[in-house]
Amino acid sequence: MTESEARPEGESLGVPRGHAVVIGAGIVGLCTGAYLQRDGWRVTMLDPDGPGESCSFGNACMRSDGAGLPVATPGIFWKVPKMLMDPDGPLAIRWSYLPRLAPWLIRFVAASRRGRVEQMVADFATLMARARPSYEPLIEAAGARDLIRDCGSIEVFESKEAFDGARWGIELRQKHGAPLEVIGPEQIRQIEPSLAPIFVGGIHRTDADRIINPLRLSQAIADLIRREGGEIKQVAARSIRRGAGPGGTVVTEAGEIEADLIAVSAGAWSKKFAADAGARVPLDTERGYHVLLPNPGVDVRIPVKSNEGGFYLTPMELGLRIAGTDELAGVDAPPNYKRIDPMLRRAKRMVPDLNTEGGEPWMGRRPSLPDSMPVISPVRGAPGVFLAFGHGHYGLTLAAVTGKAVADMAAGRPTDMDMAPFSAERF
Ligand SMILES: Cc1cc2nc3c(=O)[nH]c(=O)nc-3n(C[C@H](O)[C@H](O)[C@H](O)COP(=O)(O)OP(=O)(O)OC[C@H]3O[C@@H](n4cnc5c(N)ncnc54)[C@H](O)[C@@H]3O)c2cc1C
Repeated sequence: MTESEARPEGESLGVPRGHAVVIGAGIVGLCTGAYLQRDGWRVTMLDPDGPGESCSFGNACMRSDGAGLPVATPGIFWKVPKMLMDPDGPLAIRWSYLPRLAPWLIRFVAASRRGRVEQMVADFATLMARARPSYEPLIEAAGARDLIRDCGSIEVFESKEAFDGARWGIELRQKHGAPLEVIGPEQIRQIEPSLAPIFVGGIHRTDADRIINPLRLSQAIADLIRREGGEIKQVAARSIRRGAGPGGTVVTEAGEIEADLIAVSAGAWSKKFAADAGARVPLDTERGYHVLLPNPGVDVRIPVKSNEGGFYLTPMELGLRIAGTDELAGVDAPPNYKRIDPMLRRAKRMVPDLNTEGGEPWMGRRPSLPDSMPVISPVRGAPGVFLAFGHGHYGLTLAAVTGKAVADMAAGRPTDMDMAPFSAERF
């Protein structure tokens, strides 16, 4: 592809696009690299692992257009202690990590104020509305359409207290365009007959689809980048050194690379690179787990979220994935695969015929900011450095809209939404 073919029609600003180095080849980095490349940049991607093999490998495979809720919602301060006491609960904390986590937790609780959450849902809705349309050109060019299933999803509640407590969040998201329908036990059974009759109610989300194999999606976009002239190096970046002009030098374990533009999209590992460029961003990780059941023995038709369990049952190419929960333990702690046992017990109660034999466990690190919003942002005082990380529970959904926004900002084009809520300056 020539450079003029790569640029969207009428948007060639005559700005010479030079060499862009993208740190991190998860789904966010890959979509960012692909958008930059299609905008005329020569792209080099760096990652010590293969494309999409980290957090982007093991998620619950869901995308949706409508508004999403942050993790910290009103009342979380009172709910968290109870959740932590429940050994089968969706939230765990590694107590030895608490002193290092404390500043993040304080911001997390502050972000749960009602007014803040209402604003966040509105801001988030602008991103979500553009999420799937932004994927379209990449999915088309990557030949990855066979990986998408339009399906909708349901969230189911075992307790009336939890169901009643969810109303506020449902109405808030509906106000911002999420097509959520409140359903009763009989409708749950009709939509997903594999479920046991143990639920008091649910939420049917019609705007959701699923990617039947997120790793294959990452690999398809990586292949697209290579096909269109980009390079993906299996190399770790160590630091960013700023020079006099835009971009800087990316120091890697295999030498130094000069870049006119640097995009930091190293997921949960991004904080240090942002700091190198002069941005202090309170990034931490909410670790999640999954177990893939290769022979589930039941036909779960659409993704089902257990509200109380904090996980999804998602049918995918390789079996049934049970994915979710939240563990606050930092990036470096080893996985605690015992977290999977309560997920399996609850899943078996939800779907009694489920065959839980042969499950493969996995742990991944969601890159998470305390207000659940990503950073998609230039860095003040560091022209040519862009931050694209912190997508928490929504990174699969928001990867392409992030890449598009970075390419727009890098080209000096106006973005089609207000980027201030996603600025690194908000902290
Ligand atoms: C259990 C679970 C369920 C989820 N379900 C969903 C869902 O249904 N829908 C949804 O939208 N989102 C979901 N998510 C969230 C989503 O998976 C993440 O937000 C997303 O994968 C983050 O992508 P990323 O590219 O930022 O990070 P990653 O995929 O972690 O990629 C970061 C990359 O940076 C690389 N890197 C690290 N250090 C360096 C270095 N020094 N130099 C170069 N590269 C480096 C890593 O190797 C990695 O490949 C879920 C997450 C989990 C854990």
